Amino acid sequence: MATFHGWAAPARGRPLEPYAFAAPKCGAMDVEVDVTHCGICHSDVHLIDDDWAMSTYPLVPGHEVVGMVRKLGSAVSNLEIGERVGIGWQSGSCQDCEWCQGAAENLCAASSATAVGRAGGYADRIVVDSRFAFAIPDALDSAEAAPLLCGGATVFSPLLRYRASARTRLGIVGLGGLGHMAVQFGQALGAHVTAFSTTASKRDDAREMGADAFVPLNDAAAMSARANSLDLVLTTASADLPWPSLVAMLRPTGTLCVLGAAPNELHFPAFPLITGNRSVSGSNTGSRAEIVAMLRFAAEHGVRSHIERFAMDDVNAALERVRSGQVRYRVVLEA
Ligand code: NAP
Ligand code: ZN
Repeated sequence: MATFHGWAAPARGRPLEPYAFAAPKCGAMDVEVDVTHCGICHSDVHLIDDDWAMSTYPLVPGHEVVGMVRKLGSAVSNLEIGERVGIGWQSGSCQDCEWCQGAAENLCAASSATAVGRAGGYADRIVVDSRFAFAIPDALDSAEAAPLLCGGATVFSPLLRYRASARTRLGIVGLGGLGHMAVQFGQALGAHVTAFSTTASKRDDAREMGADAFVPLNDAAAMSARANSLDLVLTTASADLPWPSLVAMLRPTGTLCVLGAAPNELHFPAFPLITGNRSVSGSNTGSRAEIVAMLRFAAEHGVRSHIERFAMDDVNAALERVRSGQVRYRVVLEA
């Protein structure tokens, strides 16, 4: 039996340790991939800390994977040995329910996640359902592409769903891994982009990435000056946010779409929702079709994750960059 080598948290919140484990079976529809790169999404930190009460240990995180196909299951027809692929948050679905049949596998109740109850991408190899391994366009660098697989897909999906275009006044809250890609996608779609951030030193970067305006999130006066000004706001912070101010930011029919895993309940008044037909929604990663479209769009429009590269062996130092909010703007582990 072959052995894979990775990095695992032995228990909740603990530093990662080298971890050898038996290679998972490569089923008929699966592929085995040699991992070359893996981004560190803040969801990895949530999983290591068991913030969502779904983690099992030892836990091998990682769901922004790029690598080369080394083995094909007997029924795989969409990929080839040696092909460069990316793997995101989702690793499987039932393929049969109304959501899977309707090109919305990310909403399948039987969905499996790449690093929940199975080993993720902080490892030398990974086995995944071939339908959730996506060919990476040649124009994309592997390291810069890795964060697109989760972070990029997660922000691109609601931009498609809410038809972001040159007519859209778009707000992006939080300039981290997700947020910095959201600014770029929004700009490339022609939207007028306002970036909201708690970090004043990110102002110039936000402009360079395509933001038309920058608003300090903790400046109440600057926030209220923006009331009734935006059609779509995506929140990407793993934090409690000033929800009433963000709802107040919406124009009539506007939508506040929650992407970041805020630790506590969201509170906001009903009246702005009622009087302006405003909505508050959420969004869960991206469907397979959206991930394919996102990769193609990123290649065509030069959307790139701004990355800090770390060797896989330095994973704990890399995780600390994410936990402490120092990273600009995504860590990518290299095998
Ligand atoms: P990240 O790189 O750590 O970025 C989060 C950003 O949030 C920070 O850079 C910071 O931006 C802002 N922030 C941090 N603390 C804050 C605070 N106390 N108040 C306000 N803003 C704060 O994280 P990420 O990888 O982008 O992930 C962000 C969140 O999205 C996580 O909760 C993650 O689990 C979630 N997520 C959800 C999905 C989904 O499918 N919906 C997919 C992937 C990730 P500024 O410095 O600009 O303020
Ligand atoms: Zn993620």
